[in-house]
Amino acid sequence: MEELLIKNGFVYDPINGINGEIMDIAVKNGKIVEKVEGKNVRTIDASKMIVMPGGVDIHTHIAGAKVNAGRMLRPEDHFKDVEVKTERTRSGVGHSIPSTFTTGYRYARMGYTTVFDPAMAPLKARHTHEELNDTPILDKGAYPLLGDWWFVLECLAEKKIEECAAYVAWTIKATRGYAVKLVNPGGLEAWGFGGNMRNIDDIVPNFNISPREIIQGLCEVNELLNMPHTIHVHTNNLGKPGNYVTTLETMKCVENLAREDKPLIHITHCQFSAFKGRDWRTFESGAEEIAKYVNNHNHVTVDMGQVVFTDTTTMTADGPFQFILYQISGNKWVNSDVETETGTGIVPFRYKRKSYVHATQWSIGLELALLIKDPRKIFLTTDHPNAGPFTYYPKIISWLMSRGARERILKKINRRARQKSLLPTIDREYTFYDIAVVTRAGQAKALSLGRKGHLGVGTDADIAIYNLDPTDVDPSKDYRLVRKALERAAYTVKGGEIVVRDGEIVKSVEGKTFWVDVETSPSVNEFAPKLKQVFEDYYTVQYENYIVPEHHLAVSSPVHVKAEI
Ligand SMILES: [Zn+2]
Repeated sequence: MEELLIKNGFVYDPINGINGEIMDIAVKNGKIVEKVEGKNVRTIDASKMIVMPGGVDIHTHIAGAKVNAGRMLRPEDHFKDVEVKTERTRSGVGHSIPSTFTTGYRYARMGYTTVFDPAMAPLKARHTHEELNDTPILDKGAYPLLGDWWFVLECLAEKKIEECAAYVAWTIKATRGYAVKLVNPGGLEAWGFGGNMRNIDDIVPNFNISPREIIQGLCEVNELLNMPHTIHVHTNNLGKPGNYVTTLETMKCVENLAREDKPLIHITHCQFSAFKGRDWRTFESGAEEIAKYVNNHNHVTVDMGQVVFTDTTTMTADGPFQFILYQISGNKWVNSDVETETGTGIVPFRYKRKSYVHATQWSIGLELALLIKDPRKIFLTTDHPNAGPFTYYPKIISWLMSRGARERILKKINRRARQKSLLPTIDREYTFYDIAVVTRAGQAKALSLGRKGHLGVGTDADIAIYNLDPTDVDPSKDYRLVRKALERAAYTVKGGEIVVRDGEIVKSVEGKTFWVDVETSPSVNEFAPKLKQVFEDYYTVQYENYIVPEHHLAVSSPVHVKAEI
């Protein structure tokens, strides 16, 4: 492996407090080191360029059974966007649901090096990991869906927190998962009977438990297990007018569990959960209320779920929400149930500038990002591909950095949406430092990935270099230049190897899969027979077949934690 010296770049490394200083970064054996010297060192001249840690995406649907069902549902998504084979890369297709190889290349071209798929049905974990194995260059991980699982509901209804923690620990290890994901807690179980949860105090059919108790219970479980990430929550009532109240209640319901200033809950793709109004006619933004709460509390982080005006594919475990979207759009629809665990829905969707609702959604995402004062509390996502494909991140960055870029779009959107939008009242423009926070530092921190998201000595040498001179380019005016430079990194370095040069893949390497190896006390094993019985009673696979063996991961990278049970 080459030794690298990245010379004279403007370095943005928020975790180490570096804000655009001209510095050299040295790389050896895949890690960042103090210095390198000798004739084997390859020098990259990064003068007049920006150097950042590799991008980190905390929430992007790129792999697994649901994503693949989306690919099969949408041949039209493949026809219009083809990635041709080169000497170093494989061919692929897909605008909103790219094939695995294409996904890896496209992220790497933008300088991203670590991504997490947030919705792994435990029973489909093997499939998810097979696709992640086939996604080149990137390091990755996946969050098992646990908020509607029968084990979890039964234990929490009986207030057996430790027993629930034992099952969750087992599931995280068995599925090689990274974080506890909740989607419309209780609502997916209700959907099995054609129902849904109307608020966080509704009662889940057959289980005598409310979403509030599920959220609080899994939050306690997450703390008992010392998981590296907080619970990752897709709220009840997502996508419905008036849901900002549910979102505030969701954040509030774990407030009393907060210790120190540590985050306890992550509200994902918050845009979809920040709606005011009684119905679609009175629909409007609830971003101000959400931002106010997040500004005043430190136990919450959120990500944007920013809408872009394009054709895309919505896919979520939130089956009842997808049914609503199917009814609204009249598009084709997939609905699926995964035994006693979770479900899914998929609907193609086009966000239109001239639609009042879509244009307001576009505004809400940006309002959240601009009204939440501390960029370490909000991360840039599109909930790929739900609000738009991840390839639009550079465009979103241009909106965050430039009032002018926002105004340009505002002029073109639905008139009523423009009149109601808060954006004209907001002057804030993100700096490159802020961008480095919302696209890498904050996300790595939220995932407790100490080796990612910064350029300190000893971290993984994942580095993005963009052809932008911050002393010359004014992002407020030159937002197009910023967007172009971020779309095609001058260099992407992954684990010490140059994988992208001038926006082209020059080398494809294999990425690691992170999963949490939870260590529990031996007494926890007493729950195993009960777990086995559940498989006997309800599952089409047996306990032993359910576990994804570690050798099934192309490059396994366990993160060890010691649980308090
Ligand atoms: Zn999502």
